[in-house]
Amino acid sequence: MNPVILEAMQSCKIDSASVLKTWKEIVEIESFTHNREGVSLVCDFIRSELEILGVRTKVIEFDKVGPLLIGEYGEGDLSECILLTGHMDTVFKEGFIKENPFRVEDGKAFGPGVLDMKGGVNLIFYILKLLKALHYTKPIKIIISGDEEHGHEHSNQGQLMLEESKGCKLAFNMETGLIGNSITVARKGRIACRVATKGKSAHAGANFSDGINAIHEMAYKILEIQALNNKYKDVTFSVGTIKGGTVANAVPDYAEIEIDVRYNDVDIKETLIEDLKQIAQTSKIQGTTGELFIDGGFPPFSNKLNQRAYEFVNAISVKNGLGETEAIHIGGSSDAAFITIAGVPCLCSMGVKGEWNHTNREYALVDSAIERIVLITDAILESEKVKSFLV
Ligand SMILES: [Zn+2]
Repeated sequence: MNPVILEAMQSCKIDSASVLKTWKEIVEIESFTHNREGVSLVCDFIRSELEILGVRTKVIEFDKVGPLLIGEYGEGDLSECILLTGHMDTVFKEGFIKENPFRVEDGKAFGPGVLDMKGGVNLIFYILKLLKALHYTKPIKIIISGDEEHGHEHSNQGQLMLEESKGCKLAFNMETGLIGNSITVARKGRIACRVATKGKSAHAGANFSDGINAIHEMAYKILEIQALNNKYKDVTFSVGTIKGGTVANAVPDYAEIEIDVRYNDVDIKETLIEDLKQIAQTSKIQGTTGELFIDGGFPPFSNKLNQRAYEFVNAISVKNGLGETEAIHIGGSSDAAFITIAGVPCLCSMGVKGEWNHTNREYALVDSAIERIVLITDAILESEKVKSFLV
């Protein structure tokens, strides 16, 4: 590992124990994505940690969701600015921490959001602490969103991240790191949508023939939507939830499904929506109606800008004895999409490494925290030698 960084780590007293202390604190402030107050409390914590390090912060509040935090460290030209991004919300409801408290067992840290992605946000404090100790004064921007886990459905935080990213030199999204030393350079886009069908309710015994069954109609639609999986290369359609009807002895007048669509090519998005709309609006059961609702999603995170940045960070990893990395494309979406749309090369999955995010088995490897702090700090120091990462 870079001896200059190792020496600074010693003088700043950065080690697994110190990293775990704030990691525990941040995990213990529960911040379910739909709990505005919880997310705001995490934002307060992050803000105060950043301000101690001399970061100038700004918090943008939203009515329905947690805030967006923007921080600026150092001075200088925007073209020299390194961007560190993340999100402070989790998928775990308040109270889950009681059954899954923050703890370390066999080198693995557990707790709600320990991996996705409080572990990654926590690294930002130590990267900045090291850079400060090393008298690094070039600009660094920090953007942390408060509603990533539900796709910024009730806010324009994705768009704000895009605007705030513009002109930066290189970005690291501190998302869930992957076991096996991979760095994410591309992710599929996502469309989150629903189809609802309406029919006519009637008593299933006394007035069966007066009813128009909305669930029956939905059954046809589900088969048609799932069949779209055979139509396009690298596009997936998954009906994820279903609800409808009220009681068994009434013909149901309403049914609803939620659909998750993943795609690579931004140009195909409208065609996919049109296909779903056709299915939603074309009835097989006479008298039913159907409608498609688009609830949110993410654009694809493109790898087009990221090759040079990836090669650069891979070389830093090898130089520090952290091994060769692998550039991968994955299905899950992230805020990295907005950054590449802004024209900034961005590497994703740069947070602590682990597995099973979004489940009660979620864990992060404690040792990966120090590895990632060294990797990203050295990459920032070395980035001064590169004029631009755009190929
Ligand atoms: Zn995440």
